[in-house]
Amino acid sequence: MLKVTKFGGSSLASAEQMKKVGEIIRSDPDRRYIVPSAPGKRYSDDTKVTDMLYSCYDKASEGQDISEDIRRIADRYQEIIDGLGLKLSLDEEFAVIEDYFRRRAGRDYAASRGEYLNGIVLANYLGCRFIDAKEVILFDAHGNFDATLTNDVCRERLRNVVKAVIPGFYGAMPDGSIKTFSRGGSDITGSIISRAVRANVYENWTDVSGCLACDPHIIENPEVIETVTYRELRELSYMGASVLHEDAIFPVRAEGIPINIRNTNRPNDNGTLIVESTVRSPRHVITGIAGRTGFCSVTIDKAMMNSEIGFGRRVLQVFEENEISFEHTPSGIDTFSVLVHQEEFANKEQDVIAGLHRAVNPDNLYLESDLALVAIVGRGMKNARGTAGRLCTALAGAGINIKMIDQGSSELNIIVGVQNEDFRRAIRAIYREFIENDAK
Ligand code: ASP
Repeated sequence: MLKVTKFGGSSLASAEQMKKVGEIIRSDPDRRYIVPSAPGKRYSDDTKVTDMLYSCYDKASEGQDISEDIRRIADRYQEIIDGLGLKLSLDEEFAVIEDYFRRRAGRDYAASRGEYLNGIVLANYLGCRFIDAKEVILFDAHGNFDATLTNDVCRERLRNVVKAVIPGFYGAMPDGSIKTFSRGGSDITGSIISRAVRANVYENWTDVSGCLACDPHIIENPEVIETVTYRELRELSYMGASVLHEDAIFPVRAEGIPINIRNTNRPNDNGTLIVESTVRSPRHVITGIAGRTGFCSVTIDKAMMNSEIGFGRRVLQVFEENEISFEHTPSGIDTFSVLVHQEEFANKEQDVIAGLHRAVNPDNLYLESDLALVAIVGRGMKNARGTAGRLCTALAGAGINIKMIDQGSSELNIIVGVQNEDFRRAIRAIYREFIENDAK
């Protein structure tokens, strides 16, 4: 077995957390490639090292003195080094960093130092090799991630390396300058390395025991999902559930490698397994619920629109011309609605309305604002009867009016539109029906 293990910022925020990480790695020799984030928050209003680095660099760019800020960042690492009882000095590293900051080496360089230094500390603590991500994660001259080159270089570089720490979040451009992924990007590094070394599993260690069936801010202690497919997860994350960086799925998916989300603070929990496909039946008809607020709908009525060829295209073209992406297009015989993000739509609404009048000459056109979309997602829905019925009954029972309902043709999701103000209640009602009270 070969495992790539990525640890998030909260798993590496202090010496105490780092010790848990050390135990996890030492308890399983298959955990051979370790990808750390930068130290995250130790308590809720703490600051992540990455954010400290960004603001320090911004000060340096304005020509301000940064010695105090550098010292504060150095203290974060020193606290960890001391707590672990290591004989390691980062003084020289910090002298170089300060110099590079003054010479404006770039925001990406600045942010990447969080992972870089944490990688050095972790490798020292584990007594294994440190490989700088700039050697194995490669971007092209335009700053786009070069998947093919990275895969070859990374595979070759790690071929005879038994165990190594490779920092997450960044890599190098052809001229050697540092480039980062977007925030939370260490997840992507772990996935890329898993693909390159053909890991049996990509373990992603965080501070929750896996993907939750529902937002824990809405339902207290929601159930942990045991197994979820990449597609289900994609639907859930698109609708607001966040566990992984959304780009972290693609590299492992290309090789069919499962991702295991685990909790550093509860290492005996199995966590969630994210897979391409599975014959394991889900515990419930639905795997999870997610949703987002802040949508509005544009509805067009026109008699006989169904016989007007090209009607839908002309409507959507107006949105395209105004550079508005649409989410859903529920339609009836003589009505056609387009759901969009309210924020994106608001300052272009009058142009869209005028454009629609010119394009399709509607009988009526009306807007409805402050809508929320709630998605129920699950591979189990395909073989279950009455899911939409249960959903509608649950919402009706909670006194919630459904504004729209849309079932994806893959039968993987059903999306309902409700008023923003009913959003949380809708999720609670659905959770109760499908998960809490589910007899299965
Ligand atoms: N440290 C980076 C961030 O805070 C990347 C990561 O943690 O994945 O976004």
